[in-house]
Amino acid sequence: MSEILDCGHAPTPQEPGSCTTGIARSPEGKTLCFDCAKNSIIRHMHDDGEALLYMDGLGRHVTTWDGQVIAPVVEINRSRGNFGDTRVYFRFRFGTEVWTGMGQGGGMYCKVRRTKLKSIFG
Ligand SMILES: [Zn+2]
Repeated sequence: MSEILDCGHAPTPQEPGSCTTGIARSPEGKTLCFDCAKNSIIRHMHDDGEALLYMDGLGRHVTTWDGQVIAPVVEINRSRGNFGDTRVYFRFRFGTEVWTGMGQGGGMYCKVRRTKLKSIFG
């Protein structure tokens, strides 16, 4: 019998030998298949104009918790925080909107929010 997640679907099938489980977890702790995880983030971004995402290891994309690409990172600036930690500030396009984000770099989570900018370089 296969497991059914909180979203009502089975875990997303993974490549044989993959170390991921095919199960994503929402901030509320619900288990979701990967499609539902991505859809819930996108809905959250549309509704609230902000979200908590991840930046991939190379810092080229913002992704869901389980690594599904939401958008490519366009403009990125690095600076050093008060405690010697790295901060990255970046922008990306989400549909017709320009979003801004702040995080600690590749492989780390980042906070993103919608801007009123029309151009990514505005
Ligand atoms: Zn699902």
